[in-house]
Amino acid sequence: MRLLAIVAVAAVSLTAQTRSVGKGLHVFSLEKEAALGEVMARDLRRNATPLNSAATWGYIDSLGSKLAEHSPVEGHPYQFDVIVNVDTVANPTHEPAALPGGHIFVSAGLIAAAENEAELAGMIAHAMAHTAARHGTRTATRAQIAGLSTIPLIFMGGAMIPGRLKPIGFLQFSRGFELEADRLAVEMIAKAGYDPKALPAYIGRMQKDTEPKVFSPWPDREYRVTALEEAARKVAPHLR
Ligand SMILES: [Zn+2]
Repeated sequence: MRLLAIVAVAAVSLTAQTRSVGKGLHVFSLEKEAALGEVMARDLRRNATPLNSAATWGYIDSLGSKLAEHSPVEGHPYQFDVIVNVDTVANPTHEPAALPGGHIFVSAGLIAAAENEAELAGMIAHAMAHTAARHGTRTATRAQIAGLSTIPLIFMGGAMIPGRLKPIGFLQFSRGFELEADRLAVEMIAKAGYDPKALPAYIGRMQKDTEPKVFSPWPDREYRVTALEEAARKVAPHLR
């Protein structure tokens, strides 16, 4: 009965949902998603150390605003935080945390690891694509339907999670969502005037081989880089 009720709600929200990105079985309205994101962002801020540099916050904010002009979902809101906390073991690519409703938490580690602005833009765009495509709440929808409603609704791209939040347990985005965010990110940075090949270059350098691969939250590195390069060639054939 519970499953039927959820599917019925999802059907209603789907008919109201006209965006091409972010479609899928969904039990969260945009309003509910935004409210959820606010709570999660407050929680993350309590557990993370903000980077003490107004200049860096301003820089990330303007880079994010530039990318937001090419958001895969027009008008999707974004808000950027810059934090110190980095878990390089769980998140070797320093992928920013992406919360429902558009909260993006960029770590100082990502800024340091990126060799140029295009790489940084690529990783931020990837996180922005996760929230625009509603990967977090779509994952939560699946969890609810599977009867896993006790799993906290906290979603990070990759696993950039401050230590204290870790024991709560997290859902990973599916590998398919990672690949979709990659493709959207390549399109976004190309439209913003960056070389889209920067993202495969960064991922190829930073993502570690994981063993066993079957448990990895990320797509296999080689497969991922090949898909990214292919996407980059499609959006910017002149840069081939
Ligand atoms: Zn991701």
